[in-house]
Amino acid sequence: MKLLEDKIRTEGVVKNGDILKVDSFLNHQMDAGLFRAMAREWKRRFDGLGVNKILTIEASGIGLACIAAEEFGCRAVFAKKSSGSNMDAEVYSTKITSFTKGKVFDVIVSKRFLGPEDRVLILDDFLANGCALEGLMDLVNQAGATLVGCGIAIEKGFQEGGARIRKKGVKLESLAVIVSMSGGEIVFREDGT
Ligand code: 5GP
Repeated sequence: MKLLEDKIRTEGVVKNGDILKVDSFLNHQMDAGLFRAMAREWKRRFDGLGVNKILTIEASGIGLACIAAEEFGCRAVFAKKSSGSNMDAEVYSTKITSFTKGKVFDVIVSKRFLGPEDRVLILDDFLANGCALEGLMDLVNQAGATLVGCGIAIEKGFQEGGARIRKKGVKLESLAVIVSMSGGEIVFREDGT
C-alpha cells in the first residue's frame, strides 16, 4: 500500500538491523487519517467474508483495530497481557513471546467477548516471527470462533512468520511487506495498492 510505504520511507528508522521504529505515526504517536486509509484497504481485501469481530493485542494494535472495526461495522476486542492473577475459567489464555522485549506474556481474552458465533479478523501492527499472530489464532481456536484471516500493517518478509502462517492456509494480508532493511535501506515487495 503506497501511502503506508511512503510514510515508512519518510519517517521509519531502522534499529539494530531488524527493528523498524515507526513510533511517529503507528505505535506511539498515531496518524488516524493513515489508520482510516489502512482500515479501508483491509475492508477491501476482506470484503464479503462476514467479519463480525476484530481481534488484536495490546497495546499497538488497539488504534488500528478500533478504526478498522468502524469500517467493518463490528466491535474490536484486544487481548490483554496478564500478570496471571486473573487466569480463571472466565478467560481464554495463551502465551506469546514478545519479539521486541524477548519476554513471554500470558495473554487473555474474556469468554464474554469471543465465541463460536464470531467470524474473526485478527489485526496487528507488525509481523516478524509470527508468535503474536499464532497466539491470537490460538485464542480464536479455543473460543470455537472462525478465523477469517489476518491483517498486518508492516510485515518483515525477511523473517519467518509470514511464510509459516500462509503455509497453514490462513488468508494473511500485509499492507507493506519489507523484503530487506540491510544497511538501513528499506526495500518493499511490490503489491500494486
Ligand atoms: P512476532 O510475534 O511476529 O515475532 O512479532 C510481532 C510483534 O512484535 C508485534 O506485535 C510488534 O509489536 C512487535 N514487533 C516485531 N517487529 C517489530 C519491529 O520491527 N518494530 C516494532 N516497532 N515492533 C515490532
